Amino acid sequence: MGSEAGMVIVGAGECGASAALALREQGYAGPVTLIGAEPHPPYERPPLSKDAMADEAEPMPKHAASPQRLTEAGVTHLAATEVRVIDRQAKTVATADGASLGYDRLLIATGSSPRRLPLAEGSRRCVTLRTFDDALAIRAHLRAGVRVLIVGGGFIGLELAASARKLGCPVTVIEAQPRILMRGVPAEIAETIHAAHGSAGVHVLCGKGIVAVEDITGGVRIRLADGHAVEGDLCVIGIGAVPNVALAAAAGLAIDNGVAVDGNLRTGDPDIFAAGDCCSFPLALYGGRRVRLEAWRNAQEQGALAAKNMLGAGEAHDAVPWFWSDQYDLGLQIAGLPDEGVETVCRDLGADAFILFHLAADGRLVAASGIGPGNAVARDIRLAEMLIARRAAPSPEKLSAADTKLKSLLAA
Ligand code: NAP
Repeated sequence: MGSEAGMVIVGAGECGASAALALREQGYAGPVTLIGAEPHPPYERPPLSKDAMADEAEPMPKHAASPQRLTEAGVTHLAATEVRVIDRQAKTVATADGASLGYDRLLIATGSSPRRLPLAEGSRRCVTLRTFDDALAIRAHLRAGVRVLIVGGGFIGLELAASARKLGCPVTVIEAQPRILMRGVPAEIAETIHAAHGSAGVHVLCGKGIVAVEDITGGVRIRLADGHAVEGDLCVIGIGAVPNVALAAAAGLAIDNGVAVDGNLRTGDPDIFAAGDCCSFPLALYGGRRVRLEAWRNAQEQGALAAKNMLGAGEAHDAVPWFWSDQYDLGLQIAGLPDEGVETVCRDLGADAFILFHLAADGRLVAASGIGPGNAVARDIRLAEMLIARRAAPSPEKLSAADTKLKSLLAA
């Protein structure tokens, strides 16, 4: 490398920040520029639906990379700066304020945005939660007695429901599917979470289509396909996320449920990489199945890997997907891809905690999903993750026998 243009990262979230710092950790000494549309230094999103909502303290962004750390690393962070165009011939990016910046290698880490609910577009009472500023705006409304409607029984909706209940808000969750967390979370675990919300007083309505969203005096009314209606003071729409691909698409890069990259996170343009929520990639662990992961750890890992590969390492992404969710006193963790399994065995950890192991037809352990109080499942999920990474095929009997230590299976 060694030219003056250096490395440019579009998107200053968890992934972009991770990449910027990793470039330095890898010894890169040229210019590194991190460009983000938000006004804040890179911050972590997981607390936004959890602590930032329910803690008494005034919410502050939890930095993924503080301004001081970026300065010390010699990373130029352009905040509140939107990249409008990637010119692949000139190897430049153009920003909304008219500036143009050259790159040797470019990383697209543009993340994802909340999926819109067209019926709610005209409503002043309906909001989405993605950014720190979104979280502040929602929190300003949450106090005892304020009725909260949540459309979507996914992670945003359920974590927010738990936080809003802690603050004394009556909460109704409306989910279109027959159950909550339909995608990616096994039914037994979703049932446990559903029950916790029921005990906390959340009204969870599943299998309910929405036919109208109407602002009414002092609130909002949602009309359901079954003829009923629910009313609230505030409505949060959490119906999934869509990858931010417009910039890449306009630059002529291939899109396939996200910016399509190869195992090294490289696009069809050898000088452009993509990582995090915005990209789809072949996951070696599952025979090269193309996936897109919307998860905090993946954003970090892929940012760091992209940085290495921008410097020529040529390493394939082979990490085990992992994510967690906290709701009330329950901790959920999933390692691997449960839908790769054809057989499930359960290990009862006692004290209301259990883990489901998902096995492929050839006996390989492909995922583990666990739920329990606090971090009751954390240690065993970590061990399961190691078994998954090793492509191990432990016997279902041993997996289900709580007196067989998972560590011993690892040793085998
Ligand atoms: P999500 O987890 O994908 O859940 C969205 C849910 O809303 C799905 O069950 C979806 O069903 C349902 N839905 C879709 N359209 C609907 C409609 N018209 N009416 C009612 N329900 C509808 O997405 P999210 O909760 O919005 O979260 C957004 C992003 O933040 C995701 O990337 C998520 O992974 C991330 N996040 C992660 C965590 C965590 O890992 N702990 C926490 C918060 C947020 P279908 O499956 O049929 O679309």
